[in-house]
Amino acid sequence: MKVIILGTGTSQGVPVIGCNCETCTSANPKDKRFRTSAYIETGDSKLLIDTSVDFRQQMLQNNISDIDAVLYTHHHVDHIFGMDDLRQITQRHKKKIQIYGKKETLDEMRITFRYVFDKQLIRHNSVPIVGFNDRSVRKFKAADVDVIPVEVHHGNIKIYGYRINDFAYITDASAIDEKEMKKLKGLKVLILNALRIRPHPTHFNLQQSVEIAKILKPEKTYFTHLTHDILHKKINETLPKGIELAYDGLELDL
Ligand SMILES: [Zn+2]
Ligand SMILES: [Zn+2]
Ligand SMILES: [Zn+2]
Repeated sequence: MKVIILGTGTSQGVPVIGCNCETCTSANPKDKRFRTSAYIETGDSKLLIDTSVDFRQQMLQNNISDIDAVLYTHHHVDHIFGMDDLRQITQRHKKKIQIYGKKETLDEMRITFRYVFDKQLIRHNSVPIVGFNDRSVRKFKAADVDVIPVEVHHGNIKIYGYRINDFAYITDASAIDEKEMKKLKGLKVLILNALRIRPHPTHFNLQQSVEIAKILKPEKTYFTHLTHDILHKKINETLPKGIELAYDGLELDL
């Protein structure tokens, strides 16, 4: 199984428009962050987690030209707004892309992307062709891959993270209930959001994410969904053993 971390930035990306801070002006490529997303290849299956605002650039930079299914974490703009560009893949490969998420996520997406899902509005080739699968279940198959949804709190809503084999991807979490924590035991790699140093009402900050990693004890934890508070080199050095900041383009073999 191969994983490429396609984006590690919080909702506005890094650099932030108009900002002259140390991170936003840094020459280190690890301080340039697209919005969060990940690509997973296992066997013949190609999965994507979220279609970020930067989806098109992420596909081009990583030479990814095909996707079989998309697992959506939630409906916030930074995680879904690249969806329209799925049509480049559906057209080229003449296929449907199945999308998965919890009911609330897909209900919101039906409103946001009405032109994709409203049959009366669809004009041939002008929209991505997508399947539509509500997954409020314990386990499901997406493009032949076994996927376990993990429900986490994101402020006052509940959203999904996903576990595939020994890999799990959790973004935008602010709390994880005991019952869901159990689904995250015995991991080789955990991708987990860690927004910034100061606390935040709807996302874990760095210290909270370190605590979660220490409880779950995956072999390796990578932090994502980072703001410009996080200067890669400076913050990465302060993290405990086994925990690192993720960066755009990070490749993992599992
Ligand atoms: Zn987000
Ligand atoms: Zn900045
Ligand atoms: Zn969010």
